[in-house]
Amino acid sequence: MASPALLMRVVASAYSVAEKAATIVRNVMAAGDLGIVEKTGANDLQTKADRLVQMSICASLARKFPKVTIIGEEELPSDEVTEELIEDGHCEEILKKTCPAQYTGIKEEELVIWVDPLDGTKEYTEGLLDHVTVLIGIAYRGKAIAGVINQPYYNYEAGAGAVLGRTIWGVLGMGAFGFQLTESPAGKHIIVTTRSHSSTLVNDCISALNPDSVIRVGGAGNKIIQLIEGKASAYVFASPGCKKWDTCAPEAILHAVGGKITDIHGNSFQYNKDVKHMNSAGVLAALRNYDYYASRIPNNVKQSLVP
Ligand code: AMP
Ligand code: MG
Ligand code: MG
Repeated sequence: MASPALLMRVVASAYSVAEKAATIVRNVMAAGDLGIVEKTGANDLQTKADRLVQMSICASLARKFPKVTIIGEEELPSDEVTEELIEDGHCEEILKKTCPAQYTGIKEEELVIWVDPLDGTKEYTEGLLDHVTVLIGIAYRGKAIAGVINQPYYNYEAGAGAVLGRTIWGVLGMGAFGFQLTESPAGKHIIVTTRSHSSTLVNDCISALNPDSVIRVGGAGNKIIQLIEGKASAYVFASPGCKKWDTCAPEAILHAVGGKITDIHGNSFQYNKDVKHMNSAGVLAALRNYDYYASRIPNNVKQSLVP
């Protein structure tokens, strides 16, 4: 058999690297010293877990795929990576899958990997552990084409016997795996949005959509999970603040199962290596009926958010 396509090797490695990341996230919390640093302010935090995981993911993937561009959220010195942070395994099951034909010829230098080592840091520091995800998004020609979302504390309240943590992954043209795709309740508009980065505009936009209910949880990864598991029907965030590493992996997985994510104007996100990191014009996503929500975003909200 021919050797697996590069894309499948990258996804298979990213899967194992994300599992190692989840172990680090749990170990830092268990050890009890989070080493919290404020970045731009009290709602923009970095912990020891963000730092160690970023080093682990970026160094592990760079060692295997030296020509791939890897962009991580945290700014860190590159000389502190110790050997115990390196993961060199991969998921055999992913390697056995057939790469979608349009991606079989991709070369290393054509891929950009966007890494959010810990999405939902604020919630992590507050003990809302199932909001936390590790995000590895893979982009080609500016488009999110594959992604891995690890949820280190999935099942953490399910009691003894439940397996802690899970890894969701997907490739455009192939589908997404590691969860049960579930439709949200028919005829109900359930909006999922930020918990710790609200603003008047964020709330005005949600009110204008006249939702049946609103779920406020941390993390972009976590909010996409709410959509694909049928807990919410739309993710609405009328604010700058989310970055490309927040949306790349979630976008690939949502698109792989037929959903749609854009900014609040309906523009798709670009993931080339020199793109601006900030998603300045917010986020709008849905598994179904994206157009319904897009058509109801008020003009004043759009005018306030410049792409
Ligand atoms: P949230 O929905 O508030 O959990 O935000 C999703 C992602 O975007 C997280 O990684 C946040 O850190 C980031 N984010 C959103 N708004 C802001 C903000 N105002 N400042 C810093 N990060 C933000
Ligand atoms: Mg994040
Ligand atoms: Mg983060």
